[in-house]
Amino acid sequence: MTAGKPFLPYGRHQIDDQDIAAVSRVLAGDFLTTGPIRDDFERAFAAKTGARYAVSCSSGTAALHIAALALGLGEGDAVVVPTITFLATANAARYVGAEVIFADVDPDTGLMTTETLDQALNLARQRNDGKKARAVIPVHLAGQCAPMGEIAAMAAGRGLDVVDDACHAVGATYRESNQTATVGDCRHSRMSVFSFHPVKTIAMGEGGAVTTNDAELYEALKLHSRHGMVRDADKFENTELAFDPGGEANPWYYEMPRIGYNYRASDINCALGLSQLGKLEDFIERRRVLMERYEELLAPLAPLVRPLARVPYCQAAWHLNVVLIDFASAGVTRAKVMDRLGQKGIGSQVHYIPVHRQPYYRRRYGDILLAGADRYYGRTLSLPLFSAMADEDVERVVEALKGALG
Ligand SMILES: *Cc1c(COP(=O)(O)O)cnc(C)c1O
Repeated sequence: MTAGKPFLPYGRHQIDDQDIAAVSRVLAGDFLTTGPIRDDFERAFAAKTGARYAVSCSSGTAALHIAALALGLGEGDAVVVPTITFLATANAARYVGAEVIFADVDPDTGLMTTETLDQALNLARQRNDGKKARAVIPVHLAGQCAPMGEIAAMAAGRGLDVVDDACHAVGATYRESNQTATVGDCRHSRMSVFSFHPVKTIAMGEGGAVTTNDAELYEALKLHSRHGMVRDADKFENTELAFDPGGEANPWYYEMPRIGYNYRASDINCALGLSQLGKLEDFIERRRVLMERYEELLAPLAPLVRPLARVPYCQAAWHLNVVLIDFASAGVTRAKVMDRLGQKGIGSQVHYIPVHRQPYYRRRYGDILLAGADRYYGRTLSLPLFSAMADEDVERVVEALKGALG
């Protein structure tokens, strides 16, 4: 490592004194969990995304799980998931017993498109395995928006529910006719799912959220993430236990109509989330500036190195700085490039190994050919991007990348 220069990870959180004070206030207060800050965070997050409701939970993975539960997905159902994503997007289907239909992606953006969705549905139909495709989970990879309007139109025609995995894209917006849509406003999806893991744009430690405009889904999300416990007397089934002879609900009484989980986010985490949420626009703006600087400095490295193709309708909220590198033409392997960057104190990562290649899924579904994903995967490398990076850090990364490519 270069002496005196800090290691630059591919992503990290940015915490200031205000965040620390917000968490400290909760630690000194009455509620470490299920307190008022949780409610404040949920209200603020719903307002930020433009959705009617938000439910916080313990991680983005838990958020995906409760979204799948709220839709009532289960055995006999199938869910379309782009293969370029984090494991958890696909795993959410399996948690509830549904099968995964892996969709290919555009090789230059890494995003699922209506073409790759259509292709995935056709192949699934030809397999004729008795599973009914019931949902699709587009992923806003790296902070760019999947084509939600088009995907929603296709999904409606095929009887699919849409849940967008927005873990990368909090704060991203997109143009639609003469309107501006916000990722998470759920205009084209039943629910949107977010993660606040420290590498994401805002941090909660571990944390996540689901947004929705649907009151029934909102109730279901709360139920599934809070043990399946019901305290509403109108809903009690065991009337002999629930009510006294005078018909009053017993004060201790609760019921569990369906099994649930403890996927709550604590008030400690929510206090951090709420404080970070207040800085979301600043974080996104800083990431945009850094990305512009990268684009400028990387331009001379074309065609060996190209930025991720830009989606024209989207105002991205960049989570990752993905570049696509022609390693074969450069005459150097990706492993070697990562190693050389590491020696200069620069972290890099691959987002993602196509999920259908994971041993678990190969054993389940056999070998699937998804050429766009392979082409994307063969070239992808994520370079450092986080709001606390300095302009000089970008220069340092690009110089190191030039050196690493020889
Ligand atoms: C981070 C991430 C998740 C999971 O979020 P956790 O909070 O880490 O559980 C799911 N999907 C995508 C696309 C992610 O990047």
